[in-house]
Amino acid sequence: MAEPSTLDPAIAARLKHDEHGLVCAVVQEDRTGEVLMVGWMDDEALARTLSSGRVTFWSRSRQEYWRKGDTSGHSQHVRRVQLDCDGDALLVRVHQVGAACHTGARTCFEAGGDLPVVVGAAPEGEPAGEGPAAGEPAGNGPGAAS
Ligand SMILES: [Zn+2]
Repeated sequence: MAEPSTLDPAIAARLKHDEHGLVCAVVQEDRTGEVLMVGWMDDEALARTLSSGRVTFWSRSRQEYWRKGDTSGHSQHVRRVQLDCDGDALLVRVHQVGAACHTGARTCFEAGGDLPVVVGAAPEGEPAGEGPAAGEPAGNGPGAAS
């Protein structure tokens, strides 16, 4: 940060910055839920993202602001921005134009590919990937009796 940030101080106060003044931003395609990429924002990059409709990052390697798509044409149009529970990560939901990854892959994770894993399984009776069903109090679902 070269310049003073224009971020709302009330929002800035909720962020837990790393030692470089940055917060991790996970970018997700709003229409499909695909996780597209991860970047870094300082307060000013977040202010620009919140106020311009376009996603802006801080480039750690180039030490400059970087508005996604300005050189590639693969722009990201902001739909929603959320802060996580402890303030150290942002979830930015966008409409992505073209490829999110600089390699030309749709997502950075598609570009990086799978690592070998031992596949785990939830305990019997736990619906995978879901919380309690709507209207059902937490802890009262199947499997809670044991
Ligand atoms: Zn990438």
